[in-house]
Amino acid sequence: MSNYSVAKFGGTSVADFDAMSRCAAIIKNDTQVRVVVVSASSGVTNHLVALCDDSLTEQARAEHIIAVETIQHNIIEKLSLDADITHGFMATLEQFKVLAGKCQFSVAEKDELLSFGERLSSYLFTQVLRGQGVAATRFDVRDVLATNDIHAKAEPNIAKTRDNAKQHLLPLLNEQVIVTQGFIGRGDNSLTTTLGRGGSDYSAALIAEAIDADQVQIWTDVVGIFSTDPRLCHKAAPISKLSFDEAAEMATFGAKVLHPATILPASRSGIRVFVGSSRAPEQGGTWIEKEKSAVPGIRAVTQRKNQLLLTVKSPEMLLASGFLARVFTILAKYNISVDLVTTSEISVAVTLDNAPNASRPELDQACLNELSEFCHVSVENKLTLVALIGSEIQLRHHEINLMSVLSQFNIRLICHGASKHNLCFLVEQADSDQVVKSIHRQLLELSN
Ligand code: ASP
Ligand code: MG
Repeated sequence: MSNYSVAKFGGTSVADFDAMSRCAAIIKNDTQVRVVVVSASSGVTNHLVALCDDSLTEQARAEHIIAVETIQHNIIEKLSLDADITHGFMATLEQFKVLAGKCQFSVAEKDELLSFGERLSSYLFTQVLRGQGVAATRFDVRDVLATNDIHAKAEPNIAKTRDNAKQHLLPLLNEQVIVTQGFIGRGDNSLTTTLGRGGSDYSAALIAEAIDADQVQIWTDVVGIFSTDPRLCHKAAPISKLSFDEAAEMATFGAKVLHPATILPASRSGIRVFVGSSRAPEQGGTWIEKEKSAVPGIRAVTQRKNQLLLTVKSPEMLLASGFLARVFTILAKYNISVDLVTTSEISVAVTLDNAPNASRPELDQACLNELSEFCHVSVENKLTLVALIGSEIQLRHHEINLMSVLSQFNIRLICHGASKHNLCFLVEQADSDQVVKSIHRQLLELSN
């Protein structure tokens, strides 16, 4: 392992010239950072997503294009661009305008269009770094980050990415800081791919893994990962240390700070992850690392709204075998990914993520029909999955408080035991903010 660090700056951290300057100062003060991964400036990817819509009016299309340009120009105004940056930036902006002006896009073209946010911001960020006296070069991440061909949700090819990094990226790192793009990669077919919304965190971790870095820094607009959403509970506090397992559970169960896949490469390769605010680097943040000895306890409470509960019941299966296998085979056939599961002899209840951006927004009628052939099927909506995250969570320790909090609410389902790191339950969506607040107050505020 090298002592290189990879630093990733999210959209708000590179939103404008002042924000970029704060990030540049962080890099200048930390000579271990050799690779910088940037997001698109705040708002840009949303405009690009809007531009992918084939039904956009000409007027609306023009407005989104201008909005993207304006964000770039407000930054350029404060910079004097070196010739190499001017050249690359202008050519990229031109390519963007030509593509965005079309009105019908293939899936591959949509990914190409979405890639412009990061491609543009990486030119400007390189110049801001140079302005602070840091030797910096912009690098096209597509020459390193190899993926499969699944547009909009590409999966990385780890081995190929590592080979590419050895060949193209590692030799550059002694001389200068490399500024590259999050979120995008290149598929087997040589076309641009994207890793899904919020994917820049994942990119940073993948690049860190490919260059054997020992640390990846995720700079955002909050001073770490909080014990719950601070907009909901103002007593929510940043957590100074989390294990990989705890952080992965938090990202999966709704903490919005990190893209859920980020922890995978980090824990696989033992790379420490830091999450902090580029506005207040002096305030520190959350360190995520391999747990040396897990301190038992609840660290956080998260919620994920828009969950769907599917219950299937089959009295015929009493004392027969193969019931669960049959149910899950059907769910797998329809590519439905299940979160929580509870079972009894003749019934099984599973939760599915029904969020607007979930890969499977609703249950196929065909799937329900197939289940109905041997089961009674019911589907409930408007539920929230609340998760307590921590280590060695034992009801015994918390039972009095937890049960008294929960008894005030209608709990639809509880899951505990399969993982040492979470205890999850489903509540009515209308109650869930209140449930989270009560749990935070009684289990996380009082114990601190
Ligand atoms: N720019 C992309 C997005 O907004 C990726 C990222 O920022 O992580 O989703
Ligand atoms: Mg993000």
